[in-house]
Amino acid sequence: MVMPLALGFVRPVSAPWIRLSRPANPFLFCGKYPISVSRSQSSRLNRILQASLHSSSVGDSVGAQVSVDQSEIIFIGTGTSEGIPRVSCLTNPNKTCPVCSKATEPGNKNRRLNTSLLVRFPKPSGKCNLLIDAGKFFYHSALRWFPTYGIRTIDAVIITHSHADAIGGLDDLRDWTNNVQPSIPIYTAQRDFEVMKKTHYYLVDTSEVIPGAAVSALQFKIIQEEPFTVHDLQFTPLPVWHGRGYRSLGFRFGNICYISDASEIPEDTYPLLKNCEILILVSPSLSLSVCVYIYIYIFTLDALRPDRSSSTHFGLPKALEEVRKVRPKRTLFTGMMHLMDHDKVNEELIKLKESEGLDVQLSYDGLRVPVTL
Ligand SMILES: [Zn+2]
Ligand SMILES: [Zn+2]
Repeated sequence: MVMPLALGFVRPVSAPWIRLSRPANPFLFCGKYPISVSRSQSSRLNRILQASLHSSSVGDSVGAQVSVDQSEIIFIGTGTSEGIPRVSCLTNPNKTCPVCSKATEPGNKNRRLNTSLLVRFPKPSGKCNLLIDAGKFFYHSALRWFPTYGIRTIDAVIITHSHADAIGGLDDLRDWTNNVQPSIPIYTAQRDFEVMKKTHYYLVDTSEVIPGAAVSALQFKIIQEEPFTVHDLQFTPLPVWHGRGYRSLGFRFGNICYISDASEIPEDTYPLLKNCEILILVSPSLSLSVCVYIYIYIFTLDALRPDRSSSTHFGLPKALEEVRKVRPKRTLFTGMMHLMDHDKVNEELIKLKESEGLDVQLSYDGLRVPVTL
């Protein structure tokens, strides 16, 4: 008999918020090739893996299969609005952007589409798939990751704000409502619904649609800045400023906090971040002041202090003040711009684990993190 084991099931002892679950897939996924293993081999291998895993990020993976009773989050997109690579960088005759050049390579983690997160958890009929944001590159993200992870339905979409990189994909939901399910509920703040009335007027008022045109069938549900429940999972809005006077929402579900678009976190929001285990935060590359400092820190370090061992002389960038303030067990940045080289930045960020006990890394498109909700 073949004992099922997938690398994605092995959870490090140091990450108690990520629970062990019974694997269901009869293959060990190593890279992209499945390898079958015997029961004795697998238990030994399991022990070796358990003993050797120290980082909370080791349980993450791309493309690995998971059991139906495992909750997880999947990063559908982790980039800025224009996407990475930028076309303008690729057509620049001087070829001055190494990150965008790398991003053209298949599987490169610098390739990033609009920020979006899929929250998956078990329900009697299978997995519930809740999508946070469907931006203008949603179709391309879904094309890349939905077949990979066997994602069939979209059980709800929760909107952070009404910029194009968060709602530009609402029209693409027609493929689901025409071919998979009758409709999709869209949870949105009133102010963003008012924007959708203009940008997607034919989806809000379907009487505008020419008879026979099969547009997305959406049910708009207005949320306030207070907890609401979607398919039995409670979401707590995390109000933030996304530029002066413009409100955006992050969301807390379980002990996971997701803030994808923000320039400032208001004081009133901090209590909602208490006891956060995984903080997913807008990356240094946007205008979020905390993140600008990280960006400066890392790139100043590279430019002026090639001796990386002396990096601690800079102290930690002010960028990490937010992370320090919240003290999550783990932080994953999202929404990275094209100047953020995945491996290079992560190499620097990983040092914070030893120096300050901060587990901070950049996420990437397709990253799957098993979680407990
Ligand atoms: Zn570029
Ligand atoms: Zn925005």
